[in-house]
Amino acid sequence: MKTDIKSLTLEQLNHAVKELSLPAFRAKQIFKWLHEIGCTSFDEMTNLSKELRNKLSENYYISRCDIEDKYVSSIDDTVKYLFRLTDGEFIESVVMKYSYGYTICVSSQVGCKMGCTFCASTLAGFTRNLTPGEIESQIHTAQSDLGIRISRIVMMGIGEPLDNFENVLDFLNNVNNENGLNISMRNITISTCGVVDRIYDLMDKNLQLTLTISLHAPNDEIRSRTMPVNKRYPIDTLLKACREYGEHTGRRVSFEYTLIKDINDSEQDAQELSQRLKGSLCHVNLIPVNDVKERCNVRSSKETIIKFCNVLKRNGINATIRRTLGADINASCGQLRHLKRGDMNENSR
Ligand code: SAH
Repeated sequence: MKTDIKSLTLEQLNHAVKELSLPAFRAKQIFKWLHEIGCTSFDEMTNLSKELRNKLSENYYISRCDIEDKYVSSIDDTVKYLFRLTDGEFIESVVMKYSYGYTICVSSQVGCKMGCTFCASTLAGFTRNLTPGEIESQIHTAQSDLGIRISRIVMMGIGEPLDNFENVLDFLNNVNNENGLNISMRNITISTCGVVDRIYDLMDKNLQLTLTISLHAPNDEIRSRTMPVNKRYPIDTLLKACREYGEHTGRRVSFEYTLIKDINDSEQDAQELSQRLKGSLCHVNLIPVNDVKERCNVRSSKETIIKFCNVLKRNGINATIRRTLGADINASCGQLRHLKRGDMNENSR
């Protein structure tokens, strides 16, 4: 079995180059081809001899993701990709245009094990982790298809990034490298449903990225009903980890709170949430629940959402209501799916 050369960090590539008895400067050259340019074949690496390219391809392959389908929103130019991986699995990614540039929402796993009751990504279960190279290839393929440069990354696509911890770290390392995409940690957001042990592991890395927690409930009763991960890591444990994370890294932790009618959107819920978050340096993003056809969650009314937001603000909690992008192409939060071969027509949008 060949190894995916795109999943190696520069440090690992240095070792690999040594093992092939190549001069050390080759590592940086190859790294640039893979990560700055986004090559999908060794033949594109024109400053390497044919012999060297052959040697590389005898030992390695380059992970990639190819466009199986593409949907462009007619409302806001958001683009959703259905990508096919080398082994025939599928993932989805979304590119959003903001006044400050392009942001990509990448997937970290094929499917998801977390089982949140409002989310489409978990419906078809979990198949496998994405490799660091596959996570990054979503950016390269989107960039070259759209002819743009992406400046921000949110890990809010399919999968739980902290459940694929080592690969996500290597991915971050590579996109952050100045010989690669050179995207600063401050322009990267990782979203987690609350895998507390890994939050501490991430804290130890002391990265300047933004950590955001999918909270979605003010208490354990509601949260355990909608997010199975809460049974393992209850809210108090999670919020304690967030406080320590914030203190240790100096980075404000954000919370996502999806508002679902009659589930978690009452004034009492807003008060309870305020009490829990009081005193911690944080920001709450309120998201009107997006439609997932297999689920019967109903969006809270505009008035309810504004009222909820105002309760938080009156209690001194930073809160904003998130604008929904890509609504006409099912590209919004929680709508990305783990499609399997054969599902395409049924899910054609
Ligand atoms: N597994 C990670 C990354 C996924 S991010 C996590 O849970 O954070 C996707 C975000 O969309 C999460 O905040 C998720 O809870 C939220 N989400 C899921 N389903 C949704 C829906 N139907 N409407 C709005 N947001 C949803």
